[in-house]
Amino acid sequence: MDKVCAVFGGSRGIGRAVAQLMAQKGYRLAIVARNLEVAKAAAGELGGNHLAFSCDVAKEEDVQHTFEEMEKHLGPVNFLVNAAGINRDSLLVRAKAEDMISQLHTNLLGPMLTCKAAMKMMIQQGGSIVNVGSIIGFKGNVGQSVYSATKGGLIGFSRSLAKEVARKKIRVNVVAPGFIHTDMTKHLKEEQFTKNILLGRFGEALDVAHAVVFLLESPYITGHVLVVDGGLQLTI
Ligand code: NAP
Repeated sequence: MDKVCAVFGGSRGIGRAVAQLMAQKGYRLAIVARNLEVAKAAAGELGGNHLAFSCDVAKEEDVQHTFEEMEKHLGPVNFLVNAAGINRDSLLVRAKAEDMISQLHTNLLGPMLTCKAAMKMMIQQGGSIVNVGSIIGFKGNVGQSVYSATKGGLIGFSRSLAKEVARKKIRVNVVAPGFIHTDMTKHLKEEQFTKNILLGRFGEALDVAHAVVFLLESPYITGHVLVVDGGLQLTI
């Protein structure tokens, strides 16, 4: 049977780098994002028999339907990566409720919905899930109280789920990146942050992808939070 890996947020940034590594390792990939054209381009670049799907991770019906389509076209999903995420940075006093809700829905409700949908397939034959969190989820940051809450919540969710499903041979882990070069950070001035990063640079998406793939494939690790931040958390 094929090893099938669904990467939500696989069209760009960290998710895309994960998909590239997994494709090299012989997995069949489902690249999932809202923008189908960008997802198709990312799937096409992988070569081989990979497929793109359009889905808003915050909508339950959309997620359900996407898992049904993935199973129909690729077979049961036994590996899941939740890398879809957004930030709407703002001091809390200026934050709009609609931006709070969109972060909560995309970053926290989204992984809950995809994990729930994946359970139905994984419960038969086991599986492995990696949720992409952030060091901001436990360190906090000015202007990111809501984003931090979504990522802190994701850790609690993942560790609880790891306890719930371990007996079904399903593992659930988290990778918590620091600053990584992607569309999400392109507006930041790197030199303003590197003094706090022991390794002196922002990470690359591939730096995080190696950690995601390691956890996806590590048979005796579950409920773990792996920090990939160049040493940032030691200084802030
Ligand atoms: P990115 O380059 O902006 O990519 C985000 C991906 O998520 C895209 O594929 C995007 O595609 C997808 N996405 C966003 N909203 C979605 C939705 N509602 N439904 C489905 N897909 C959605 O971001 P990134 O930097 O790779 O971030 C990946 C994850 O790492 C996020 O969870 C982020 O919070 C986390 N993270 C990033 C950093 C960093 O420094 N970059 C640091 C710590 C944690 P569409 O827009 O087409 O939907």
